Amino acid sequence: MTAAIEAQETGHDVFLVEKEAYIGGRVAGFHRYFPKLCPPYCGLEINFRRIRSGHRYLKLFTQAEVENVSGRAGNFNVSIRLNPRYVHADRCTACGQCSPVCPVDMPSSFNYGMDTTKAIYLPHEMAFPMKYVLDGDACLGDTCNKCVEVCPTEAIDLHMTSRKMDLTVGSIIVATGWSPYDASKIDFLGFGQYPNVINNVMMERLASSNGPTKGDIVRPSDGKAAKRVAFVQCAGSRDVNHLPYCSAICCLSSLKEATYLREQYPDSQAYIFYIDLRATGSYTDFFRRIEKDEGVVLVKGKVAGIEQVPDSHDLIVEADDMLGGRKVRVPVDMVVLATGMVPNFAEKQIPGLDLKRDEYGFALEGQPEGVYISGVTRRPMDVVSSVRDGTGAALKAAAGMGRS
Ligand SMILES: Cc1cc2nc3c(=O)[nH]c(=O)nc-3n(C[C@H](O)[C@H](O)[C@H](O)COP(=O)(O)OP(=O)(O)OC[C@H]3O[C@@H](n4cnc5c(N)ncnc54)[C@H](O)[C@@H]3O)c2cc1C
Repeated sequence: MTAAIEAQETGHDVFLVEKEAYIGGRVAGFHRYFPKLCPPYCGLEINFRRIRSGHRYLKLFTQAEVENVSGRAGNFNVSIRLNPRYVHADRCTACGQCSPVCPVDMPSSFNYGMDTTKAIYLPHEMAFPMKYVLDGDACLGDTCNKCVEVCPTEAIDLHMTSRKMDLTVGSIIVATGWSPYDASKIDFLGFGQYPNVINNVMMERLASSNGPTKGDIVRPSDGKAAKRVAFVQCAGSRDVNHLPYCSAICCLSSLKEATYLREQYPDSQAYIFYIDLRATGSYTDFFRRIEKDEGVVLVKGKVAGIEQVPDSHDLIVEADDMLGGRKVRVPVDMVVLATGMVPNFAEKQIPGLDLKRDEYGFALEGQPEGVYISGVTRRPMDVVSSVRDGTGAALKAAAGMGRS
């Protein structure tokens, strides 16, 4: 998003291709972001405004995917599939009359399956664009038709189909970001097995006022206040059997999430089990601030296992307390696994763009001429670095156009 906005502001025509129905990436789902702990929409809204004012140059396509890339620097042909929204965006006023009449409930992907949405829904309360979208697979179609009947602007079209579009462009920026590592692959941590073991992105949604519990940090098993929470660092990271690399932000994100808990329940206790806490540069102050809180207990040691207490669904975290020189068994209400970031295109390449990758699946610099990379596509990084990287990519792309 930053790369597109910056390129647009240099006066170039830009096409921003987003596969979701909204833009903002993973950050759109966070409760707050470090180091200032402000809501992500402070920053996102400024960018949305820049997009609105730059509409002459920047064309945004949501629910869109690149099907093929051919050509070369200065003259790429990019084929794009525009998936159907089933809602005419220009007519949808986001009045919200359609959702309540929809009989279908389906897991909410924005809330990582922790609650449900209707088959026609607003992606989230702050979505940009603020337009409803219908899930064609879940919708009952003409046999139901209820949303079509109540829509006051006749915006819903259950027969909308996907469309193809071909663009000719001079440069391409790949900024496809990341997904959380699948923690169910780590068998001893109980993710997917015990309901009260969640991961760090789920914790972001749990704490968000527009999340599945409207911001109440409660246990998925029974809705009880989760006042004793263990954060397990390097869940799968720095482990040759899972993700051999460090994702750079997981320590900071757990420290941040511990503040959500401490703020909500003054009598709460956060335990952070770590190998070594990584908070470098200006983030050291952030770490120092949270470290002083007596309600945040830092335990240096690898977690060996998690057990569930049969009736209560409480959890026991077993770890080596290296500084105390003993084994500990800590009873908690909920566990948050600090899972790392996996580059999206490690699993799914962009057809026709044979990007070079390092051993972990991140894109390497020096791609085919005219192709630039940005953000977590390159390596794990925080938002500030991603934004800077996006600006750099925009400049390189603009300069490359001048050369070709
Ligand atoms: C739990 C957790 C908490 C974090 N908290 C913070 C924090 O507080 N502060 C901070 O600075 N950093 C934080 N981070 C890091 C932050 O999330 C990243 O720096 C940021 O998301 C990187 O942005 P990005 O644009 O590279 O990727 P993303 O945010 O992943 O954005 C990529 C975009 O590309 C789209 N996309 C993907 N594939 C395709 C495709 N094939 N076609 C079209 N579109 C596609 C996606 O839908 C998405 O919109 C946190 C990370 C984690 C794991």
